[in-house]
Amino acid sequence: MGNSGQFDVSQCLSRAVGRLSAEDGRHVAEHLLSHVLGKDRAWLFAHARDPLGAEEIAHFDALLERRIAGEPVAYLTGHRGFWTLDLAVGPDTLIPRPETELLVELALARLPTGRVLEVADLGTGSGAIALALASERPQARVVATDASAGALAMAERNARMHDIGNVRFLPGDWWQPLAGQRFDLIASNPPYIADADPHLRQGDLRHEPISALASGADGLDAIRVIAGGAPGHLRADGWLLLEHGWEQGKAIRELLALAGFVDIATERDLEARDRVTLGRWPG
Ligand code: GLN
Repeated sequence: MGNSGQFDVSQCLSRAVGRLSAEDGRHVAEHLLSHVLGKDRAWLFAHARDPLGAEEIAHFDALLERRIAGEPVAYLTGHRGFWTLDLAVGPDTLIPRPETELLVELALARLPTGRVLEVADLGTGSGAIALALASERPQARVVATDASAGALAMAERNARMHDIGNVRFLPGDWWQPLAGQRFDLIASNPPYIADADPHLRQGDLRHEPISALASGADGLDAIRVIAGGAPGHLRADGWLLLEHGWEQGKAIRELLALAGFVDIATERDLEARDRVTLGRWPG
C-alpha cells in the first residue's frame, strides 16, 4: 500500500512547482527535493524517472506545505551557504545573506595575514561573519557575541562543524560582554530595520528573530550603541565595520564622525545599494 512508485522525481517536481509561488518555482522545489533525498541537483536530472518512496514523498510534501505557509527555505533544510562555509541555521538565528559577504571582504582587506590580531563580531547570529573571518585568518583571535543563547549555541555548533578553533563565544548585549577589551577590528551586522517597517510582517522576515532585524523607531538604536561605544574598544588605527540598510549610509557616517572616526566611507553591495559603512579609530 502507500504511495510508493506513484511519483517519479520529475512528476514530484512538476506537482510542487504548480503549488509554489512563481518567485520560488522550480528552484525551491529542486532545493527541497535534493535535501529530502540527500542528493545534489545534478542527480535529480539524471534520475528524473526514478520512482520515489512513500516516506520520501511524505517528507517532501511536509516541507512543501511549510514553504507554502511562508517558512524560509533555509529553516526547512537547516542550513545556508555563506562565504566558503555551509552553516547550520534555525529560527534563533538570522539567515546569512549574500550582501553580508561584502562586509567580510572589506574586513579581510583590513586584516593583514601573518599577525596576531584581535577581532570582534557583535551579534554573531549563526556565526557567519566571525567564522568567515576566523577561517581566512587563522592567526586572528576572534570574539563573537550574541544576546540570544540559542543563536550563540548555533554559532558554536558551526565552529565545531568546521573545526574553527580561533573564535571565543560570549553571551550578552553589544558591549556588555567586552568590558576592558580592545580590538584591531570590530564588525557587526546588527538589527537595522525600523520597528514599524511593513516588511517585518511580510514574507520570510516574519519567521526570523525580531531581535536580529528591528531596532527602534529609525532602525538605528543598535548602531548608535555600537558606534558610540566602539572608540572605547578599538586600538589605535583599528576599524569598525557596520552593515546597514540602503538608506542609512549618511546617518551612520554622521554617527561615526561624531564618535571621532576618520577615513569614513560607505560601500555598496552587488545590487549597487549602500550596505556597509566603515571608519578608522585614530586612537
Ligand atoms: N538584510 C536584512 C533584510 O533586510 C536585514 C538584516 C539585519 O537587520 N541585520 O532582510
